[in-house]
Amino acid sequence: MSTFPQFINGEWLASQKTRANINPSNPSEIVGDYAEADAADVNLAVQAAQAALPTWSRSTPQQRFDVLDFIGSEILARKQELGTLLAREEGKVLPEAIGEVARAGYIFKFFAGEALRIGGQAIASVRPSMEVVTSREAVGVVGLITPWNFPIAIPAWKSAPALACGNTVVIKPSEITPGCAWALAEIISRSGLPKGAFNLVMGDGIAGKTLVEHPSVDAISFTGSVGTGKLIAQHCALSLKKFQLEMGGKNPLVILDDADLNIAVECAVNGAFYSTGQRCTASSRTIVTEQIYPAFAAAIIERTKALKVGAAIDPTSQIGPVVDQRQLDKNIHYIAIGKEEGGTLLAGGERLPGEGFFFSPALIENHNPQARLNQEEVFGPVSTLVKVKNFEEAMQVANATPYGLSGGICTTSLKYATQFRREMQAGMVMVNAPTAGVDYHVPFGGSKASSFGPREQGGMALEFYTKVKTHYLA
Ligand code: NAD
Repeated sequence: MSTFPQFINGEWLASQKTRANINPSNPSEIVGDYAEADAADVNLAVQAAQAALPTWSRSTPQQRFDVLDFIGSEILARKQELGTLLAREEGKVLPEAIGEVARAGYIFKFFAGEALRIGGQAIASVRPSMEVVTSREAVGVVGLITPWNFPIAIPAWKSAPALACGNTVVIKPSEITPGCAWALAEIISRSGLPKGAFNLVMGDGIAGKTLVEHPSVDAISFTGSVGTGKLIAQHCALSLKKFQLEMGGKNPLVILDDADLNIAVECAVNGAFYSTGQRCTASSRTIVTEQIYPAFAAAIIERTKALKVGAAIDPTSQIGPVVDQRQLDKNIHYIAIGKEEGGTLLAGGERLPGEGFFFSPALIENHNPQARLNQEEVFGPVSTLVKVKNFEEAMQVANATPYGLSGGICTTSLKYATQFRREMQAGMVMVNAPTAGVDYHVPFGGSKASSFGPREQGGMALEFYTKVKTHYLA
């Protein structure tokens, strides 16, 4: 078994402790043994990032372009191999895993281009013989903390814009899936980036907390659960660090009577269950108006029961395992809650035979929008069906959670589609498309408890990773 060290100041450094990373399709298989940073390691990484800042923040746009373009090309050239690693460590089925790797490659390519476009504004002064211009500068040392469900795309969509803007980086990926971030670090180590400009520390929340609380870290970009996000927000607020949080969702998909039934069923199944439902944008509530409800329910039950759950690298699998024993227990626990609170289990919801963490995609009918299964994020292949009278009630139910990440509608009515786009309290709205499918080059994020701070991805990502300076020229 290989041991994978941390990457600090351009060198591969062993740690006191390591953690074995297992394959959720086959938990007796160890994917790798990964370094676990202690406080001294995190401190070294932050110091290295600080030392590299003067060099990298003064690099030319061309240098940044070349580095990011190299990283993007390497990722794309190795998408099959890295996709297999992703499938083995996270459990996403192979086509989705390869798709995620390609996304990461294109993200680096996109931000290579953005590095050439970072600029300011010329603004007319109110004073005679005065010119005012603004410029954008790197924020400094940024700490990036990422979850397990997109183990290469999220490290990519944070580190690419951070580096494009001239920041230096310390990244701490999820302890559950460090392998893809390690592979990314290995590519970055050969990209021509100055030593110390990108550092990888691995480990659990303790390493994350040490990074957040380090006084020389200027900004934190976090993706993960609301609970962790609030802890990070508290610290950053008190220490006046810039921060950005992307958190959970309880995303609704509304199906109206006039919807195309086939499109509606595809959107619902894809949105709820692909990536084993472990997407922050997954549609975990399907809200259906009463006339189409019987036909829709019958069709989605049939489609859900037919989904083939199996090992992530088996080409016949449509749904992989959940990521670990904890997530498996959580899914089982929520099915029990769903039944206790009066819901009817229409499909799945069971631990499947086999060594892996296999769980059959679950549909639970519960028309009470306040039921826990209609309010709390399960983060697994568990979706509810909620029957409503009409569009107005559908909107009320859709907006009745603390979250606001994504929301979708299936309808052939332009009027309702437009009204939905206006009234849905979410950062991303989809018409006749699954809530979980997003582009890699446009803003990503939500409202309410789902997100805090400037948007990630697309050109808007530069907002977080730069600070503005106003220049007065007499
Ligand atoms: P998590 O909050 O448990 O962990 C996320 C990261 O934070 C991990 O790297 C973890 O080690 C670290 N961490 C834990 N405690 C910390 C602390 N006190 N200080 C600093 N870092 C700490 O989340 P998870 O289980 O890895 O991910 C699942 C969650 O992520 C879900 O809620 C999901 O919706 C959300 N998510 C959101 C988005 C989005 O863009 N909105 C995308 C993917 C996942």
